[in-house]
Amino acid sequence: MSTKTRGSWVQSANEELCDFPIENLPFGSFFKRHEINPSPCIGVAIGNQVLNLTALAMAQLQSSPLITPQIEELLNLFKGQHLNAYMARSSKDHQLFRFFLIQCLSVNSPLQSQLNPHLIAQDEVTMLRPCSIQDYSDFYASIHHATTVGAMFRPDQPLMPNYKWIPIGYHGRASSIVPSGTPIRRPSGQTKGSGNQAPFVQPSRRLDYELEMGVFIGAGNAMGQAIAMADSKEHFFGLCLLNDWSARDIQGWEYQPLGPFLAKNFASTISPWIVTREALEPFAREFTRVESDPQPLDYLSDATTLAQGAYDIRLQTWLETQQMREQQLGPVKLMESNFHEAMYWSLFQLITHHASNGCNLNPGDLLGTGTMSGPQKDQAGSLLELSEGGKTPLQLPNGETRTFLENGDTIILKAFCERDGYPRIGFGQCSGTITA
Ligand code: MN
Repeated sequence: MSTKTRGSWVQSANEELCDFPIENLPFGSFFKRHEINPSPCIGVAIGNQVLNLTALAMAQLQSSPLITPQIEELLNLFKGQHLNAYMARSSKDHQLFRFFLIQCLSVNSPLQSQLNPHLIAQDEVTMLRPCSIQDYSDFYASIHHATTVGAMFRPDQPLMPNYKWIPIGYHGRASSIVPSGTPIRRPSGQTKGSGNQAPFVQPSRRLDYELEMGVFIGAGNAMGQAIAMADSKEHFFGLCLLNDWSARDIQGWEYQPLGPFLAKNFASTISPWIVTREALEPFAREFTRVESDPQPLDYLSDATTLAQGAYDIRLQTWLETQQMREQQLGPVKLMESNFHEAMYWSLFQLITHHASNGCNLNPGDLLGTGTMSGPQKDQAGSLLELSEGGKTPLQLPNGETRTFLENGDTIILKAFCERDGYPRIGFGQCSGTITA
């Protein structure tokens, strides 16, 4: 059972199953829906409210011992259009500002009356991408996903010989990353059935989701300068949920020899709140690899980093079909896995590997982890795996079946962290509905 260590004067933050208690405080960007000329603001989620940091930074705050010159300087960063200026700061600054926010929002805060006007109900705002995302790469870090999918394409050699030595990834497309709630249009593309002589173009018939986590980069590295494993934590800002929508029929025809392209880049949905490294700290645990497997090369090894290199995060996928919506049945849970069980590579190894050739990462860059499938068959993070390549349809409770996504289907990703003696924190939702 979780216990609250701190209470907030924002009452909704103290409710048992709230995703955003005072221990979480994730960052996001939004505009107020009812404003005539809405401009984007940066905020922090607390309970069912958003604390508008942009408005707070603009306000004339009465002097208080809580508002030191350092805090004032950090607060000024939220006057800008994007969260990136804040993300780029050191983890020391992030800790300092987090401590300020916790003091502000705790019961008996001396700033309560000054903050109160800058709270807005979450259902009165439209969430945007949390920061400016200039670059996006996607990895393939679950060995369970890689093995199951590999077996479909190469039954005699499911796992490629490089898999246990090098984190596999590709460069994705940042322009089509959209916040939760954005409708997803079924892509058309070139495909070739095994019985066909020539390829043809049609709307995808094997449209799938991928349950992933998104890793946001905080401070960047200069081009030509690698990031040592021991420094990788300094570059990790936080996590969100990521749905890497995938058209399997387009993918099957286009992916060789250069990898994913149009099967992936038509849309990727992210949850709008970035749960920070500081909020995740109580849920960090040792990152281990079975002893019989090759141990990571030196540049990907650092005992101190890996001792806290994994996070215990429960991940879930839910489906609501058009028919379920009409029958008011509510979404059905398709699967559940755990972030630390799914990851064959620590997210810190992904960061270090990405920069190991001197590639420069920038504040706000997004790294997808790859589909987060667990070791069991029912822990698979895509329909491709759950339906065994479309051969075994899923039976839904209302009598419908699914191999791949139909128009009107809504996929909802959820995640939360639980640990005895700590308040539970959640990620909010990452949801998208397929349209024709
Ligand atoms: Mn992916």
